[in-house]
Amino acid sequence: MLFAEIPGNKIVKQKLIKSVQKQRIAHAQLFLGSLGNAKLPLAIAFAQYLNCEKRGEIDSCNSCHSCLMYNSLSHPDFHLIFPVMKINKIKNPVSDNFISQWREVVLENPYLSLTDWYQHLGAENKQAVIYKDEAEKLQKKVALKNYESAYRVILIWMPEKMNTVTANKLLKLIEEPPNGTFFLMVSEDFEKLLPTITSRMQIVKTKAFSIEEITLFLKTKKGVEKEKAQKISAIANGNINKAITLSQNETEENTWLNDFQKWMQICYKINLSELVNWTDNISKIGRENQKEFLQYALKIIRACLIANTNNQNILKLQKEEENFVSNFTPFIHGENSISISNRLEKTIYAVERNANPKILFYELSLQMMRLLKVKRKLAN
Ligand SMILES: [Zn+2]
Repeated sequence: MLFAEIPGNKIVKQKLIKSVQKQRIAHAQLFLGSLGNAKLPLAIAFAQYLNCEKRGEIDSCNSCHSCLMYNSLSHPDFHLIFPVMKINKIKNPVSDNFISQWREVVLENPYLSLTDWYQHLGAENKQAVIYKDEAEKLQKKVALKNYESAYRVILIWMPEKMNTVTANKLLKLIEEPPNGTFFLMVSEDFEKLLPTITSRMQIVKTKAFSIEEITLFLKTKKGVEKEKAQKISAIANGNINKAITLSQNETEENTWLNDFQKWMQICYKINLSELVNWTDNISKIGRENQKEFLQYALKIIRACLIANTNNQNILKLQKEEENFVSNFTPFIHGENSISISNRLEKTIYAVERNANPKILFYELSLQMMRLLKVKRKLAN
């Protein structure tokens, strides 16, 4: 991965490159950023640059022996750790058991989400973990000499999936890594990381992509025509991964809106037999998507409240969303909006904590049926 392949992020790239040129590299760095931004490709490009044998002023050479191995993510001194699952009859899984699948999916799309990774493993509804065996295995690897380079890089993708035992085992290594060993963690949830870990790391903040960056990326790298690229970029909200998915989806560019509309129809008509199908479907889309759907629902509820006060432009809605909101606004008002928002937020919390999605969404829908019938108080 070359820096040049990653849209935007000019300042972060410059800082990373300078740190290598000046040989002032923090031995443990935490690349932080939102869903679908450049944190993972930046960390990979940084590792490649560090190990490149003919570094240029602004990028790796892309032709030396080290670069060629980085191009397939298979450099022997580039160790990869990521969340894994107890599937395929593997009792104590570690990243090495799934390394070829991870390389495959990241080389295809380095902006991927955890959900994409779960889907690639064919287990959307399971949670992946970085188990303690991983830490033990790494300790053994690090005790050996490097294979070919002066530098060894350990990249940990989604360290928020480490359990406490794993994190504690890694602490000492992160604190005092052997000479020439660098830790790069790539996370999108700072709150879930142990303070004992984060306090030992230099934070590299990475921003969400701008609409212009995503538009240009879709046009030049994915061959999407300008108008469609602009429309998708506006919906994608800085998430290039979402933009890629939307660009591959010909018909339904705003799928969450369609899903939300359908759900509200079921709730408003109290259609219990349809509700069973609906909860069945949503329980299969995976937790990250479920959270995204609920967050989208919250956004629309807020938009309705704002529309009630005639202040429509705050939330940057798409045309289709504006149309829906203007029809749906009469059902959302002072008497039910807070309860609806609370229910949605509670459900997001429960999804994060692995509650059964079928029961969760069924109960949430029953509450929505009740709340949508609450009458608006007439102003005096
Ligand atoms: Zn090179």
